[in-house]
Amino acid sequence: MTWDVEEFVRAAAATVEELAAHVDESRRGLTPVLGRRPPYELAERLGLARWIREGGMTPESHAEFLAAYLAEGSRPHHPASLGHQIAAPDFPAALADLVHGVTNNPMAVYEMGAAAATVEFEVVRWMLGKAGFGETGGGVLTHGGSLANLTALLAARAAAAPDAWAEGTPGDLALLVPEASHYSLARAAAILGLGERAVLPLDADPLGRIDVARLPAALDRVRRAGRRPMALVANACATGTGLYDDLRGVGGFCAANGIWFHVDGAHGASALLSEGHRHLLDGIELADSLIWDAHKMLRTSGLAAAVLTRRRDDLDAAFRQRASYLFYGAQDFDSAGRTVECAKAALGLKIFLNLAWRGERGLGEYVAGRYAAARRLWELGRERPGFVFPYEPQSNIVCFRYGTGDQAAIRERLMADGSFHLTSAEIGGVRHLRVTVMSPSTDDKTLEALLDRIAGTGDRTA
Ligand SMILES: *Cc1c(COP(=O)(O)O)cnc(C)c1O
Repeated sequence: MTWDVEEFVRAAAATVEELAAHVDESRRGLTPVLGRRPPYELAERLGLARWIREGGMTPESHAEFLAAYLAEGSRPHHPASLGHQIAAPDFPAALADLVHGVTNNPMAVYEMGAAAATVEFEVVRWMLGKAGFGETGGGVLTHGGSLANLTALLAARAAAAPDAWAEGTPGDLALLVPEASHYSLARAAAILGLGERAVLPLDADPLGRIDVARLPAALDRVRRAGRRPMALVANACATGTGLYDDLRGVGGFCAANGIWFHVDGAHGASALLSEGHRHLLDGIELADSLIWDAHKMLRTSGLAAAVLTRRRDDLDAAFRQRASYLFYGAQDFDSAGRTVECAKAALGLKIFLNLAWRGERGLGEYVAGRYAAARRLWELGRERPGFVFPYEPQSNIVCFRYGTGDQAAIRERLMADGSFHLTSAEIGGVRHLRVTVMSPSTDDKTLEALLDRIAGTGDRTA
């Protein structure tokens, strides 16, 4: 099929119009926060089988289809969207998605997308600077934090066992992680061939933060078990609670004992951009590796994450492999030598355009504002009868309970009427409601309404 330029322009204009209306009604809270009709009903409503069978969409029917499509799903720009850690994308990043969709420069090697690769290179350099890794650090963008964690741990494995790529993973390696860490880390250990049993939990306080004073005892246990630590992981911040580990304390211990220090900053590394919050990452420069998701707090669509290492060679060592058809020489600008992916999207452009439009300062103010909103919920909520907040939030994630009844049932009720989208998490084996403030339009009024609505479920003593 040839590309009818005039048809593209009309269809794109219709798409922009639908999307603009969608974001506008979402951020003003004029619609339910999510729609989730059962899939068979939705497939019917969208006419999916018929479109697949017959084709023939036009700019007009495309707009109609899109309106029906947008009505079902979650709305990250909605003030009541307080569930998952996905960005309410800012429009410069959204435009980058369109540019990539049209130009398709997937840049496994530089010649496939010179501008895309250069933009990524500069974005990574900026991130390295923010992390305090400076000019000697290395980095690459990947499709998401899970892949970024895997990549960082590959670099850690190469440092601990340089022959592992060729000979396989030695049986004595261990990964030390707090139980509050993201599941992608245990998964990475299994993928890397350490086996899930090599993942050893670190002692933590009741809120899941690493107990620095008990790190020596943990290391003793590891050694007595005949293992050696491949890496030790700290959260910045933990997915469930949004609380930061003591990076300086943990990093100091790792440095003194020659242990690879990995910081999972998928969610919380963006606090580096906020003057008032960067202290939460104090000690980050001690990390050997760090991951940082842009599709969480840097307002890009999924997925765009960075793997950063303090020493560039460490990242290059992660993938000791030759592919003669791709790698003609050690090229600093070829990303395929440093990623699980071969071809990948122009991820840097999304981050770059948000920076170019809003500035580092604008993004920092966004982070500060959302962190402040979660704190505000804590202030408002703990004044009210029936609400229990187990800690003062450090980020835009906050957990609490209402009454002694089934917290998951409260969440279900709010989602069923489309009033609020929350998640839940376990803290010390007890289920809590969990709020993540991502939307720029969530304000005090939203938070008061949330507390009213939860209190109105009448589950306080159930
Ligand atoms: C979200 C998250 C991840 C996983 O990132 P994805 O981009 O969803 O793969 C890893 N670690 C932490 C701490 C997270 O919050």
